[in-house]
Amino acid sequence: MTEKETIEIKKIIKEQISSINDDIVELTELTKPISLDNSIGRLSRMDAINNKAINEKALRDKKQTLQKLNRALERYEDGKLGICLKCSQEIPFGRLKFMPHTTRCVNCA
Ligand SMILES: [Zn+2]
Repeated sequence: MTEKETIEIKKIIKEQISSINDDIVELTELTKPISLDNSIGRLSRMDAINNKAINEKALRDKKQTLQKLNRALERYEDGKLGICLKCSQEIPFGRLKFMPHTTRCVNCA
């Protein structure tokens, strides 16, 4: 990767981290315990429980991706971003751009 490409990847990582943080705030709000008062009907409560399960899964996924992105930033600081952890080959720019948190090249993924 050229220096320019590395800087672009870093920018993408930072943007993704900030948008995931927003998603996490929103999902955390959506996964709060469901009120048991009778102001919502039984059916809407079941809907709410289903949605809560979906949002909880989304929240877990987002948190995992956030961890990966933070690790990618650490690799950037170490000058190791874009190097496959398995075969030490350079990961193509196009792949990194598509998923900047990846740690493996196509062959090793
Ligand atoms: Zn590899």
